[in-house]
Amino acid sequence: MDCIFCKIVNGDIPSLKVYEDEHTMVFMDIAKDVDGHMVAIPKKHIKNILDCDEDILNYLMATVKKVANYCVDECGYDGVNLLNASDESAGQSVPHFHIHIIPRRKNDNVDA
Ligand code: C5P
Repeated sequence: MDCIFCKIVNGDIPSLKVYEDEHTMVFMDIAKDVDGHMVAIPKKHIKNILDCDEDILNYLMATVKKVANYCVDECGYDGVNLLNASDESAGQSVPHFHIHIIPRRKNDNVDA
């Protein structure tokens, strides 16, 4: 499978891993465009939310919540943006389901 996020899951491409469990993984977005920008993915190759069954979606959202709470409770952020593009028509550039997690601080001027 020629999928960049599958290669990250398999360890064929290095990543700065933030969280991992049986079904999901969170790593720092390579873009480094915004402080703390992460992506949360299911380990299984699923193109996007349109192809995702509810079990995997629940695992992924539980992971997103864990990491979001960690950002606020332990790292001094005030909130998070959660962003997802499903399908090329919506701006999805990597065809492996992912949710961007962008930690936010009051008045941080991030345009997310
Ligand atoms: O929503 P979209 O599909 O455009 O997001 C893909 C994201 O994957 C981008 O933010 C990009 O920086 C990130 N990426 C990454 N590591 C790679 C390739 C892409 O974090 N090796």
